[in-house]
Amino acid sequence: MKVPIRSVSVLVALAVATSLVQAQTRARSTPNRGSLYGWVVVLDPGHGGTDPGSSRIHNGQRVAESDYVYDVALRVRRLATARQAVVFMTLTSGVGERNWNASRVFPDARTERFALDQSVVRAGTAGLSKRLSYGNRVGRRYPNHRQAWISIHFDMLRDGEIGGVRIIVPDTALRLARALDNSFGNARRLRDDNPVVYNGDQNHGIRRLFVLGPGNRIREKALIELGNFNNQTDLWRIRDWRVREAYARAIVQALEDW
Ligand SMILES: [Zn+2]
Repeated sequence: MKVPIRSVSVLVALAVATSLVQAQTRARSTPNRGSLYGWVVVLDPGHGGTDPGSSRIHNGQRVAESDYVYDVALRVRRLATARQAVVFMTLTSGVGERNWNASRVFPDARTERFALDQSVVRAGTAGLSKRLSYGNRVGRRYPNHRQAWISIHFDMLRDGEIGGVRIIVPDTALRLARALDNSFGNARRLRDDNPVVYNGDQNHGIRRLFVLGPGNRIREKALIELGNFNNQTDLWRIRDWRVREAYARAIVQALEDW
């Protein structure tokens, strides 16, 4: 039988409409929706490429900040994706998570590229702008999601006695600051002295950080210093994959509790 073209297209349209309604009903009634469903998270591992960030020698090998914060970001991405967040990273690299023994130092590969244009990562404002442009693009693509930007670093303080995690936020991201304060506090990882500080707070020697400035349009943002490279305990912690996993869990926990 020859079916007129018009009635075929009506039938197709009906079938599409029916399946859309069914899909929406399914989405609404999904019982096991992940705890981060509806979040888009931009992870920004510090440094990379030609810029290793902070570094210290351990047993004759250079421990470079960039390789280790990248590993933490990969762990956050895995945990958050499993909870149904949509996750992006400002950098890409061919390297995966490494559950290595703490005595085996990551080689300083310098292979990280900007996700925005695939150029090799460099230090400086031009590079930071590429991170922000990428994050802002993600933010525009997910206007109805809750949005978070998390930069991951270690710092290097002159005082080697100071250890633990410090969280830096703009004074507009108080809710994320509180959640991170709680999750890292519960994990007993926070720095004793002023663990949460505002971006640019001169009282605590905090420079105005470009990635947390007005050029970053993501609503909730934080830069986390996961420890002090001049503190021996922190330098061990960064090399221990179980601690990196715990740091990643604390970040994900903060988003869940937000
Ligand atoms: Zn850094």
